Amino acid sequence: MKSTSLLFIITLVFAVNNCFAEFRAGIAFRVVTPDPLLPVSGGMGPSKAATQKAGELNVRALVLADEATKVAIVSADFLGFPSALGNKVRAQVKGIPPENILIGATHTHSAPDAYAFPDGKGGTAADLKYLDSVCARMAEAINEALAKAKPASLKIATGDAKGKIAYNYYADRLYDPRCHVMQCIGEDGKAFATLVNYAVHPEVIGASRGICSPDLIGPLYDRLQEQGGGVGIFMNSAQGGMVTADNRLPEGKEARDWDECVRIGNLLADEALRLVRNAPEQKSPRIFCEARTISFPVDSPQLRAVMAESPLGLGGKDATKVSTQFNLLNIGNAQILTIPGEALPNIGFYLKRNMRGEHNMLFGLCNDAFGYILTRVDWGSFKTYDYVSRVSLGEKTGEILIEEALKFVTEFPAPEKVK
Ligand SMILES: [Zn+2]
Repeated sequence: MKSTSLLFIITLVFAVNNCFAEFRAGIAFRVVTPDPLLPVSGGMGPSKAATQKAGELNVRALVLADEATKVAIVSADFLGFPSALGNKVRAQVKGIPPENILIGATHTHSAPDAYAFPDGKGGTAADLKYLDSVCARMAEAINEALAKAKPASLKIATGDAKGKIAYNYYADRLYDPRCHVMQCIGEDGKAFATLVNYAVHPEVIGASRGICSPDLIGPLYDRLQEQGGGVGIFMNSAQGGMVTADNRLPEGKEARDWDECVRIGNLLADEALRLVRNAPEQKSPRIFCEARTISFPVDSPQLRAVMAESPLGLGGKDATKVSTQFNLLNIGNAQILTIPGEALPNIGFYLKRNMRGEHNMLFGLCNDAFGYILTRVDWGSFKTYDYVSRVSLGEKTGEILIEEALKFVTEFPAPEKVK
């Protein structure tokens, strides 16, 4: 009897150990559409009152774990999600180190202001109580995803998303058509989570129409779920200057409506599922996650004013520089680098080319969003770049990002190989 119970305990210990020795994944989300609706923001400056909604705003968390490391990849339907809020979320999560929590914004242009942009009259249209509730729901989603994490395998794929999805508004074809997909497969062989990483401005509806909406990301999630991809999560990429959703109509018009969000979101979901369908299954992918702090000088008077006046305490006490968390992540044969803003597509190409995974992903607008990120030769160059140069921290941002990224990639172990 005695030896049986000892055997039982030993078996149990082994079972518990085994449980942690395998790759696990979990995903959860919360709806954060404000009720009543709040004004929506598509950039610095005043918000626009919203009178209706199309789709729901979401915060979504994908937790991945191996025996040694746990990470959370989080996506929020906002224009940007500043680290001042992200750190409040991290403080409410037990069980995942704060530096292993990557929080990206989808960059929808029709959600409430999460930066508390100054309204020029000494106030802001942002609702700080609402933002606190978003932080609490995001933390709940991360905690739930962690609690639900179950044994899984991964499929990772990269390929061009075909069809009328994105284009560069400044110069049609200067964009990166590659879509990266990471799909979690349960022990029953079914997909339960699909991460889509693609560069695009979800601004079909935009901020001027008085509609609160996740834009094309809502229909992307709906379609992924309907087509067997499980719960979707979208991480934006290097979509600055000015990679946007292709909702062009003849004669220079744009569709700018929810039907077009549905068309583009569905097409991107179908393309992502097509790309990942025949990807090899990675049974026990390894995870490495490292975080550093990245700092940039704030040369732009406009951005300095936002930092100084926002009641959220953006950028800390010193308005001449900003710092945020900068992550490098290996998952299976993929490598991921975060970008705290909207990098132009040429920077995106360059970083991906120098990264060391078989799949190289950039999570744009991640851990913070400090405006556009241009190389110094692009900054202040074409007249077309006036706007993106003004809404950037300054001339040095791109070079600092590239230099820190290359250092990070070189000093970090390369991901495993599958092909
Ligand atoms: Zn933008």
